Parts: sequence; structure tokens; C-alpha cells
Amino acid sequence: MGIYSHASFLCYPMLAVPRLINYLRFCCYSVVLLLTASGGLYASTEPLVAPQSQSLWKIQQPLMGTLFTIKVYTDSHQRAQRACEQAFAIAQELQDTLSAKDACSELTKLNAASSLAPYSISETMAHALSIALFYAKASHGAFDPTLGTCLRLWHQSHTRHTLPSAQDLARARASSGWQHLSISGSGSGSHKTATKAIEGLRIDLGGIGKGIAVDAMAHCLQEAGLTRFCISSTSDVLVGDPPPNKTAWEVALGSSSSPAITFHLVNEAISTSGDQHQFIIINGTRYSHIIDPKTGMGLTSQRQVTVRAKTATEADALSTACCVLSDEESQLLLRQCPNAKLIYDTNDHKKGREATISSSDPKRRAHSRVI
Ligand code: AMP
Ligand code: MG
Repeated sequence: MGIYSHASFLCYPMLAVPRLINYLRFCCYSVVLLLTASGGLYASTEPLVAPQSQSLWKIQQPLMGTLFTIKVYTDSHQRAQRACEQAFAIAQELQDTLSAKDACSELTKLNAASSLAPYSISETMAHALSIALFYAKASHGAFDPTLGTCLRLWHQSHTRHTLPSAQDLARARASSGWQHLSISGSGSGSHKTATKAIEGLRIDLGGIGKGIAVDAMAHCLQEAGLTRFCISSTSDVLVGDPPPNKTAWEVALGSSSSPAITFHLVNEAISTSGDQHQFIIINGTRYSHIIDPKTGMGLTSQRQVTVRAKTATEADALSTACCVLSDEESQLLLRQCPNAKLIYDTNDHKKGREATISSSDPKRRAHSRVI
């Protein structure tokens, strides 16, 4: 299916605002990153049509299990459309390469390949795996791109509403561990291979893939000369230069009716990780879709972490890692990443934010909101 069939491309006049608010009210997630800035949801007193003949254009497309949105200021509809379509085409290619769920993706083939022998991979894959391994090392394995088998068990638990057996869990843990994955072939143009040093190692890039896609999309817009943009998925946002006559993009973390925190961003990214979107409750315990590599099970800490960084990739990887780590460990990790800041870190239940919506019950999710 082509991009055009998914993408809704519209100018961002007044009429679009109720549609957008409607979408956000009924969207499937309890926590959303709401983009404001001039022409944003809460900026009712602000003009929606930018001066100096620049209009705000918006294009959306479902990707990587969520909805991606590009907002861009430009004086040319055609230019914006062309650049946004290219950006989405690049993101689609990344999904086709990096998805662990897509039966035909390069990652699925790599996961299926027998271990112990070097396996030829594309530049894109080598790049993604190298970055993932960098954050795995920096976080001492809290961020681990080799938890694919543990994640499979989590999905089975989600379907069956039972915890994995001790035996299955032990097997899954034994077939995980970022130290067992290596990439060879440095330098562009050189032949790249990935080697899985143990049998059954399965890679999952869900903790970093959206960030990589958002950065690639931003690069594409910048190449086309479009610098005033905001690219977002449900949990990741990257902005470029501010909107015309503004000093920053405003990004609010919260619900449409009660934004909790507003960030003013210029050429920056933020990413939020936690168990708001995906979790299972078994025997009264809530298990996040983020796996604690020490146990192989979903986290039960109910942490929600937001990280601000220069790139969406870094924000994405660090927010997932900091969910696993304690506050102190997170601070230590952040010290290794001078461009990143841990800006929001709370236990939702303790601090009273809504986080009770079961991801297996779309009706409840749809009518719930963060308070
Ligand atoms: P995010 O929403 O960016 O925090 O990513 C969550 C996704 O990352 C999960 O759905 C898994 O695909 C993957 N994941 C789960 N646990 C980890 C972990 N400890 N390290 C890296 N990726 C993980
Ligand atoms: Mg992440």
C-alpha cells in the first residue's frame, strides 16, 4: 500500500483544529504528547495562519504501530508535500528494515538466521544496531536490543493472561544479552555483518526505532530546505527551528484538557517511556511492555520517564533505559550523554496521574484520559 493511501495531507487552517482535538480525545492512548506552539491545540488566542505567507502544513501516517505527524511551515504546498512524502517514504523503509514484527523485514530475517555465523546486513541495519549497542553498553544493559525472546513471552502473557513458566523464562533470558551481538565492517561502503554469539538470540529495536525514524525524517525535511518543523509519534517529538514569529515550539505532556508540563523546544527532541500505553495485569500485578533485563519480565515499577536530547534517537533510547534504571542510575547514565536531560520522572500512580487503562480494552482506553 502506498504512502498516499495512508497519509492525510491538509493545510492547517481553523477547521483542522476540531478534527485534531477530536482525534486526540478518542485516540487510543492515555498519555499523548500534544503539540502546541503557534497554531497549536491550546493556542486559541494565537493566529493559526502564519504571517509572512508561511502556512502550517500537517501530514500524518500510521507507522511503527503508532501515528506519525509532520507539521511544517512553508510558503509552498507542493514543496511541503514532496518533502513530507519523501520523509514518510524513508520512515516506511526503516520500518520495513527494522521491524521485528514484519514477517519480511530484514530484522526478521536476521532473527531467523542461525547463530554463530556472521550474517550480511545493510548499512541501515548496521547503523541501527551500532547505535542500539552503544546505549546498551552505556546503560550497562538496561537498554538491551536483544530481548526479543523475552518480549515474545510478554506478548504470549498478554494474550493468555498467564505468566510464563519458570522454564520458558529461564530459556528466554539465556538467549538474551547485548554482549552476544556484534557488528563488523566499519566505514561507509564496507561490507557489514552481524554475529549472534548464542543460539536463539532475537533482536528487537522497538525501544529506539521510532527515534531513528524521526531523525531520518527531520534530515529529509532539512535537505529540502524546510527547517521549521515538528515531527512526532505518540511518545517521541523532534522539532526544528521555531514557527514564524515564535521563539520555540511548545510541546505539552499531558491530556488535551489538562496539560501537565509544557516544554519550549528548538532543534531538540523529547521522548517519553512508560507503561501507560502497553501493560498487562496478571494476579493484580501490572507488567509493563518494557522488560527488565535482570528478570526477563515486564517492569512492575510503573515508572514514566521523559528525556530531552538533541536527537530523537538519543531521547528514545535513554527514556527506555531510564525506565529500567533507578533515579541514581539514570543520572549516572545521563552524565555520559552531555546533550541529554532527564526532565520528568514520576510514578504515575503515586503522583495521581491516570494510568489505569488496560491496553487490551480499547473501549476503556478510548474514553480515558490523563488527569
Ligand atoms: P519505548 O516506548 O521507546 O520505551 O520502547 C518500548 C519498546 O522497546 C518495547 O515495546 C520493546 O519493543 C522494546 N523494549 C522493551 N524493553 C526494552 C529494554 N529493556 N531495552 C530496549 N528495548 C526494550
Ligand atoms: Mg524508547
